[in-house]
Amino acid sequence: MGSLRVLELYSGIGGMHYALKESGVPAQVVAAVDINTTANQIYRHNFPDTPLWPKTIEGITLDDFNKLSFDMILMSPPCQPFTRIGLQGDIADPRTKSFLYILDLLPRLARLPHYILLENVKGFETSSARECLVKTLKDCGYTFQEIMVSPTSVGIPNSRLRYFLIAKASPGSFSFQTSSEVRQVDCSSVIIWRNNASDLPTVSEPFCPGTRQQEENAEESRVLYKLETTKDARRKSDQNSDLSVQQIQGFLEPRTEAARYLLPPKVLLRYGVLMDIVRPTCRRSVCFTKGYGHYVEGTGSVLQSCMETELESVFKGLDQQSEEEKLQQLLKLKLRYFTPREIANLMGFPQSFAFPEQISTKQQYRVLGNSLNVVVVTRLIQLLVS
Ligand code: SAH
Repeated sequence: MGSLRVLELYSGIGGMHYALKESGVPAQVVAAVDINTTANQIYRHNFPDTPLWPKTIEGITLDDFNKLSFDMILMSPPCQPFTRIGLQGDIADPRTKSFLYILDLLPRLARLPHYILLENVKGFETSSARECLVKTLKDCGYTFQEIMVSPTSVGIPNSRLRYFLIAKASPGSFSFQTSSEVRQVDCSSVIIWRNNASDLPTVSEPFCPGTRQQEENAEESRVLYKLETTKDARRKSDQNSDLSVQQIQGFLEPRTEAARYLLPPKVLLRYGVLMDIVRPTCRRSVCFTKGYGHYVEGTGSVLQSCMETELESVFKGLDQQSEEEKLQQLLKLKLRYFTPREIANLMGFPQSFAFPEQISTKQQYRVLGNSLNVVVVTRLIQLLVS
């Protein structure tokens, strides 16, 4: 196979480019396009030889695209119009305009790209934007598969459930049976996929840790401590005992300036009970989003760096204590944020990935939160091209 010419749209910090490299598929990115100046600085720093177009996609003409003569499109359109917390503006949201523009251009290209891979958030699968995408692909004669995958399914202790679509221009067909259903692969026991890249992952096991159905009863929803119910505790314990997922400790930096990343007292007091806390031996963490490092609620797990203290002993009865006592209790855990490097590790970025010096920690968290899991996308590219 000759080297594929790849167009990387919404390139950000280059998560797709890394996945392409890791996939082993002979390819070159002929153009990467993004308007975010911070992300673009980071992209250039890591891929100095890739042509990076710092402009809006809507500003690129059909002619410009034709001149690139690409065989593959890798893209992660803005996800805010589709997130559950967002307003779900969908195709009415101005941020979807560039994506609709791409769909409009696709049938008019001088040569259809042979492969397309798209990433987006959970929520995209029920959007009108997705309907437009599917219709365009069908009209152009593509065969495609939609899949929901989280990094736990490739053994990485981080949840980041995302929508993916992989498409091949006919007469290309996949090495697996495609289905018009959006396949769910949010389970860590997808061993088949891990061993053989040409297989489509399927949730085949009758028992799937973390997703087992249990009857809801009073005991299930009883709050144990730290606002957590019996059910939450069991879900976490199931995840932590799933040996097919690695431990967090394999993703930590050998030396960190721990003091720099410790949670300040104000944050501990205000958000302590809401935080998702993990230990190095855990096999789980929650999705890191772009607000990580300054807001706490729902933006990603924090790390307990003192192992001698049990969570339960700190949180039980905490609400009956004075502020000062509370703080003393919480400080015992030595809670810290994951560093940007550690988050990059959990997102599958190779060691060669680096930030230019002028990029602040806050900016680093921000761009990582917008990016994707490189290992998951690597597998999908292999699946697409195999
Ligand atoms: N996959 C990327 C992140 C994608 S996030 C990574 O690995 O980092 C979506 C990106 O789309 C953002 O970086 C944003 O700047 C860019 N973007 C949004 N609208 C755009 C438009 N109209 N034209 C070009 N880039 C756009």
